[in-house]
Amino acid sequence: MTDRPRGRHARPDTQVDAASPRPVHPSTASAGASGVSGATESHTSAPVAASGGARVSQKPTPIAAYTTFRVGGPAASTVVATTRDQLVDAVRNTWRAHDEPLLIGGGSNSLVSDDGFDGTLIRVATSGIERVSADVPEGIVRLRVEAGESWDGLVAHAVEQGWAGIEALSGIPGSCGAAPIQNIGAYGQELESVLVAVDLLDRGTLEVTRVPAAELGLGYRTSTLKRHSGDEPERDAVVLGIEIDLRDNGGQSEPIAYAQLAFSLGVELGERLSVAQVRKTVLALRTSKGMVWDASDPDTWSAGSFFTNPVVAESFARTLPERAPRWPVDSDDDAVTVIPLDEFTGQIQRPAPREAQVKLSAAWLIENAGVHRGFQLPGSHAAISSKHTLALTNRGGASADEIAELARYVQSRVQSEFGVILQPEPVLVGVEI
Ligand SMILES: Cc1cc2nc3c(=O)[nH]c(=O)nc-3n(C[C@H](O)[C@H](O)[C@H](O)COP(=O)(O)OP(=O)(O)OC[C@H]3O[C@@H](n4cnc5c(N)ncnc54)[C@H](O)[C@@H]3O)c2cc1C
Repeated sequence: MTDRPRGRHARPDTQVDAASPRPVHPSTASAGASGVSGATESHTSAPVAASGGARVSQKPTPIAAYTTFRVGGPAASTVVATTRDQLVDAVRNTWRAHDEPLLIGGGSNSLVSDDGFDGTLIRVATSGIERVSADVPEGIVRLRVEAGESWDGLVAHAVEQGWAGIEALSGIPGSCGAAPIQNIGAYGQELESVLVAVDLLDRGTLEVTRVPAAELGLGYRTSTLKRHSGDEPERDAVVLGIEIDLRDNGGQSEPIAYAQLAFSLGVELGERLSVAQVRKTVLALRTSKGMVWDASDPDTWSAGSFFTNPVVAESFARTLPERAPRWPVDSDDDAVTVIPLDEFTGQIQRPAPREAQVKLSAAWLIENAGVHRGFQLPGSHAAISSKHTLALTNRGGASADEIAELARYVQSRVQSEFGVILQPEPVLVGVEI
């Protein structure tokens, strides 16, 4: 059971109409944002009540059917919102009842307790992709996409049109609405580089506002909207839609920015290829690592990478074995300091220099702590993927407890070997690691 206190703060931004945009292509959302689709919807019991037309079930629904981990006990009630109005109504109604809903898009970044969720699960199944033409710079394609659209469906659509910017994000399961929550990223691209704004329904005001991407605190697998380790998010809000800018480059990709991808494509870093070629190669790479969700492959019954790559001070990294991979992290030293006029003393103090940070490889740390692909605790149904050290997987019939137990084991091995505490990447609902 999960009892979530209210969000801490919310800011008013430009208010927008809650109505859905006009879809311009057949929706991919009905196929499900996660790929768990068939199982997902067919399992939902017949509607027993209506909330603005949304399907509502008060039969306890096993959340396992909605998650790529295939774990999670029952939700007290379930609403499937297929339009923006239904989604807004369902969330507002839950908040007005002083309750916190559990939002699920594709369920590919959620680890939900075996006890389930003692509240309303709202499945985001809205659809629509609209091309915006007013005030868009030349060479840019601006899209407004409803939260329930499949992320990979959107990438496929963009690649078919020859639009660049998200081709390296091919094959990431889940919904477009959840993409900003942890600023999805892979193979040298991140959502942040194309995201212009999101339409948010804020808990504080119950209003819908269009919020610029710059206000979302987007960073490496984080934003102000994310519930880290089950904590409250900095901003308690529901994403109704996203707005992204893609480049109309005659079918050319963005410069390749990831060494392994460049190697597989047979080009140097910084070169461009066709977006279709990049998508094809990314999908092949991801498939070889079990990183494309596949109902028939337990190596993909996961949340992708279970741990983020730790970011540590360079001085600490020097204490690790030399062969431990590390990458410099952009520093914020050049950040502009704004001093209110009435507080300005005539002197500008230089900020204290921050120690350089480096990013470590969580996969390397795990392997070198002696936990290898396929590792399974005795009697457990959870295991490290046989294709990728960073993915914790359900081998069939695993409980959330078993996955959490494996996660704690990995964490403790890495901590005792290297003094680094790995942080889980998925959102934990009623689960403690
Ligand atoms: C095989 C596999 C590979 C993966 N590879 C990658 C990868 O390469 N890069 C990467 O970044 N991630 C990866 N992931 C993680 C995951 O796919 C992404 O984080 C994805 O964006 C999650 O989308 P979702 O709709 O499934 O989220 P869900 O699991 O449904 O939700 C995740 C969180 O967002 C909240 N949420 C969902 N929808 C909304 C909404 N509309 N408004 C507000 N909150 C919402 C949920 O309550 C929950 O807290 C992978 C996962 C799997 C299973």
